[in-house]
Amino acid sequence: MTRSFLRCSDPGCSRESQQPGISYACASCGGLLEVGYEFGEADPGRWPELWRGRQGGDEEADRSGVWRFRELLPFLAPDQLPISLGEGSTPLVSSAQAASWAGLDRLMVKHQGVNPTGSFKDLGMTACISHAVSQRAQVVACASTGNTSSSMAAYAARAGLRALLFVPEGAVSSAKLAQAIDFGALVIETGNNFDQALKLLRQVAGELGWYLVNSINPYRIEGQKTVIVELLEQRGWRVPDYVVVPGGNLGNISAIGKGLMELSSFGLISKIPRLLVVQAEGSNPFFRMWASGDRTLEPLPDPQTRATAIRIGSPANWTKALRALRWSEGAAESVSDQEIEAAKEALGRDGIGCEPASATTVAGLRKLRQAGQIEPEADVVAILTGHQLKDVDYILEERSAEDRTLRLEPDSQGAPDILSTWLSTLS
Ligand SMILES: *Cc1c(COP(=O)(O)O)cnc(C)c1O
Ligand SMILES: [Zn+2]
Repeated sequence: MTRSFLRCSDPGCSRESQQPGISYACASCGGLLEVGYEFGEADPGRWPELWRGRQGGDEEADRSGVWRFRELLPFLAPDQLPISLGEGSTPLVSSAQAASWAGLDRLMVKHQGVNPTGSFKDLGMTACISHAVSQRAQVVACASTGNTSSSMAAYAARAGLRALLFVPEGAVSSAKLAQAIDFGALVIETGNNFDQALKLLRQVAGELGWYLVNSINPYRIEGQKTVIVELLEQRGWRVPDYVVVPGGNLGNISAIGKGLMELSSFGLISKIPRLLVVQAEGSNPFFRMWASGDRTLEPLPDPQTRATAIRIGSPANWTKALRALRWSEGAAESVSDQEIEAAKEALGRDGIGCEPASATTVAGLRKLRQAGQIEPEADVVAILTGHQLKDVDYILEERSAEDRTLRLEPDSQGAPDILSTWLSTLS
């Protein structure tokens, strides 16, 4: 029999949580919790074949790019059906344009924006909402103006749960908020910044027994770790040299690290890719710690960047992220908003759209290439985290939409001059 439990993620403590249900911090040291398993008589050598065989199956769980790998996240009772929207199974494509812009011979991108609500958050949400159902939760909540809220609202609706979203007043991205409202979430405006919203939420949630789906929820990591399994499967289990992700709250990098550690402990991979995490210059407390060799993270009180999905000054998962980087002999990098925009443009030349936050990956690769930290012939995969349409305002402002728009009089005669003039500038 497999058993799952929560334990402290601090290797110096590792205490198992004695509290039933969900908790978010170690009762003895305050460290982050993670999900641990005792696997009983598992036979991991057979799993890759089993996972592949489920592809395109007619069970809903088999069509999910998370639950198809359920042997790796066995925390639901065997008879509980997960709350799934067919997440995962995202494309892995090459980008010659982004590769050449970054100074690499080749580059693959895994597009997590192609998920039900348009970001990788769906991988974590299917896991933690399914867990919330197993705990008979009735209300789920988070503080976020971003993709977490869109995703929570969708999965909560599907599970028949009430969803509450705490946001600071007037600081909400319209596309992401619209998604949450469309799925029937209740939006509670409070405070001027996220820290205030989160603080209030944590007080109220404890009192009223709500289930929190913020990044500190350890079950989200379990769903998110499957991206690396799917990626390796898509590559016939050939392990890349580098995997690069953007860093905000650092849950994604932590999840990929945990997934790799588990695959390696099961003997399913013999090589570890170096994990690279890239932050935006105005919101880069983790990069600062990494570059200075400090052992603790100094939060930034007023984080700034136009890549709003990673505008975070106090990343919750930094200890787990640090462990993943050290273990994989990886690195952290930091890039300016201009570099992010140029990277997004390079991807766009290949028809690949994404959120600004996602483009940090390619910007970081270019910088690491130029510093000689990555070889040109390296085998690299960038994880693009969110969909192009999540931040339309950014595109219309940054990409000078006006230069790309011509106005024609409806009654103009013959081929208008401005069209041929414009076309002649293209070559
Ligand atoms: C949440 C998010 C990130 C940051 O991920 P973390 O796990 O918080 O580091 C990056 N890009 C997009 C599009 C996101 O939604
Ligand atoms: Zn502890």
